Amino acid sequence: MLELDGLSVTYRLAGGDVHAVRDVSLSVAVGEAVGLAGESGSGKSTIALSLLRLLPRTAQLEGRILLGGEDVVAMKWGRLRAVRWSSASIVFQGAQHGLNPVRRIGEQIAEPLLVHRLASAAEARSRVAELLEQVGLPAWRARSYPHELSGGQRQRVMIAMALACSPQLIIADEPTTALDLMVQAQVLTLIRQLIASHGISLLMISHDLSVLADVCDRLAVMYAGRLVETGPSDSAFQHPYSKALSAAFPTVGDPASRLAPRGLAGDPPDPSDLPGGCAFHPRCPVALDSCSTTPVELHPAGPDRHAACVLVEETC
Ligand code: ADP
Ligand code: MG
Repeated sequence: MLELDGLSVTYRLAGGDVHAVRDVSLSVAVGEAVGLAGESGSGKSTIALSLLRLLPRTAQLEGRILLGGEDVVAMKWGRLRAVRWSSASIVFQGAQHGLNPVRRIGEQIAEPLLVHRLASAAEARSRVAELLEQVGLPAWRARSYPHELSGGQRQRVMIAMALACSPQLIIADEPTTALDLMVQAQVLTLIRQLIASHGISLLMISHDLSVLADVCDRLAVMYAGRLVETGPSDSAFQHPYSKALSAAFPTVGDPASRLAPRGLAGDPPDPSDLPGGCAFHPRCPVALDSCSTTPVELHPAGPDRHAACVLVEETC
């Protein structure tokens, strides 16, 4: 469904280059749910934006992005517009910003259907009612304005919008981060049910590994713009960073650990000034002297698992 091959994204700013994403290769199979984890600033949203070419002009992209086998980077503008929403759609963090405050939510959910001429006005109205029901909202909510809904309800509306044109892939960037714990659990259950019942592929992004493990088949962990580990969500992490990250978020969506990730001292590095060798070495509890000088590549590290750490035994 989705294949990233050596994706790098650099923001070119007056003050210097920001290497936000560095040589990331990752795939999402048809019907698969993949989670992308990493602390704030690790490059997750940059990846999400690059998938549908939503990056600002300052961003320079290298590598390949294949969506259903089609090269997104080479797509003409008209094709790209059709692909946005109808093949793949994005659910962003903080539904407030994704919704127009002065338009009724029914109109906003119907918009992609009408823009892509997938429905008449009457068909769009009944599709909106159906979509609202799918995300657990009554059909009369179509007449509401965003401010008349709670945060969780607004995020459900965003999910309904993402589903409107029946995409094959949904990219969800921190879809539950702004919600409180109870509502977060409900929205996660909804996402899980919807992708299973519609056979949709999912790339879900979060700083919270427990949230991802709850929904996804496979997990990928990023640090300083690079993948440091990929593997099935039901087997144990090997990389010291992934282990620290998973220990930092022991329970699903714990807001306290978001503010102060437990057991993870220090801050992630500035992508315009990365440490040499393994970028994680200054914070790594088990780093060797050589880790500050010797770069590491992802290598096989168990069944369907890859890790970029010299201390993780290479398997074949
Ligand atoms: P995440 O989603 O994992 O928090 P981002 O992809 O948002 O990470 O950011 C990765 C890095 O790129 C950060 O250092 C961030 O400051 C930088 N960055 C993100 N967007 C821009 C931008 N539009 N211009 C310049 N730098 C950016
Ligand atoms: Mg982000």
